[in-house]
Amino acid sequence: NLTTRLAKVVKTLRGQARLTEDNIQDALREVRMALLEADVALPVVKDFIARVKEKAVGTEVISSLTPGQALVGVVHRELTDLMGGAHTGLNLATQPPAIILMAGLQGAGKTTTTGKLGKMLTERMKKKVLTVSTDIYRPAAIAQLQTVAQQAGIEFFPSTPDQKPVDIALAAVDYARRHYFDVLLVDTAGRLAIDQVMMEEIQALHATVKPIETLFVVDAMLGQDAVNTARAFNDALPLTGVVLTKLDGDARGGAALSVRHVTGKPLKFAGVGEKLAGLEEFHPERMASRILGMGDILSLVEDARRGVDEEKAKEFAQKLKSGKGFDLNDFKDQLGQMKKMGGLSSLLDKLPAQFAQAAGQLQGGVEDKAVRRIEGIINSMTPLERAKPELLKASRKRRIAAGAGVTVQEVNRLLSQFEQTQKMMKQFSKGGMQKMMRAMKG
Ligand code: GDP
Ligand code: MG
Repeated sequence: NLTTRLAKVVKTLRGQARLTEDNIQDALREVRMALLEADVALPVVKDFIARVKEKAVGTEVISSLTPGQALVGVVHRELTDLMGGAHTGLNLATQPPAIILMAGLQGAGKTTTTGKLGKMLTERMKKKVLTVSTDIYRPAAIAQLQTVAQQAGIEFFPSTPDQKPVDIALAAVDYARRHYFDVLLVDTAGRLAIDQVMMEEIQALHATVKPIETLFVVDAMLGQDAVNTARAFNDALPLTGVVLTKLDGDARGGAALSVRHVTGKPLKFAGVGEKLAGLEEFHPERMASRILGMGDILSLVEDARRGVDEEKAKEFAQKLKSGKGFDLNDFKDQLGQMKKMGGLSSLLDKLPAQFAQAAGQLQGGVEDKAVRRIEGIINSMTPLERAKPELLKASRKRRIAAGAGVTVQEVNRLLSQFEQTQKMMKQFSKGGMQKMMRAMKG
């Protein structure tokens, strides 16, 4: 699949000190095949490869110290662009009620997504939400929406299978208007496959309720079928956005890439589970990461950006602010961050002088080799030992020294230097700490 293929590309490139026209060509051939295999339409692939190539043979990659990583960075950025770049949210800017029409095949996840959206609009955006089902074909469908609405904490407008979909929708709109609802979610019937009657019905519904949002709900697992379905719905209806469901499974990325290209409409949400909390805003950048594979490759992309882990940094700053002790576990995290940012020496340049001095003492110089020894020692400790270094009596120290391949003296030196740093950190004013965090983020 796409992920494993790209992983292979990166592995190959990683071994190469320099990128040449030749090995870029090889890498791009792999990317091209991978995208085709993931059901991405040929014109999309061609365009994509052309753009990546242009950037790859340009200065951006060639002049980089780590061309393999830089190429992955380019692929990541282009994938992000292909899926629309930035996140696009719901448009509710209309005279209330803002009507949202849900379209898609049977089983795509329309009813579930209706509940999820209702919950999100109510809880996060404080909207008053009404929902109605026009699915008169499956006896259980209306009851399903009622259950979902109840769980989502939104109001349900009842309907019965002997009514016409258009009449149901009109009655719901009228009710929503008279009771000052902000949003009306209209759930519709799907079919197992594209069907003329279904299309005409939803077209009639669209013409009747004039929704501000017409969301096409599609199962990400469908692959090439998702593309055909998207085309049919996009031809029949003026879609305003797409919801890609079941991304919690092992869906390939192809659907996201192609649906966007075929419809030209923004992917607005991602369904990530059967529960009503399982709805996320669709972020092209995150999807690109998913396509590139979460593990090895993504970390390479991160390396390439030399970014600090924002979450970790925040957590760390919080810890210091709250006055809770900085322990060796935090120190271990910090060492990891430092490595990501290009070694301790580059970090020391950015730190306030006072802290830099202590950090310099701590590892006895600015050699990365020394950092590795310190890491070895810290890694040989248990999390409990890192939190409570006072537990470290002679036998534990011997075990740690053996595990790290250092002497007990070195373990002792690290501990006493760490103690000094800890003291110094305690003296650090709040402002000083924030300054340091800012400096670390570059
Ligand atoms: P509809 O026919 O389009 O209304 O589809 P439903 O909302 O009834 O969903 C069909 C099935 O897909 C149900 O079993 C849902 O629980 C499931 N489903 C919907 N969205 C998701 C999702 O994002 N992830 C997972 N794992 N299952 C989902
Ligand atoms: Mg349904």
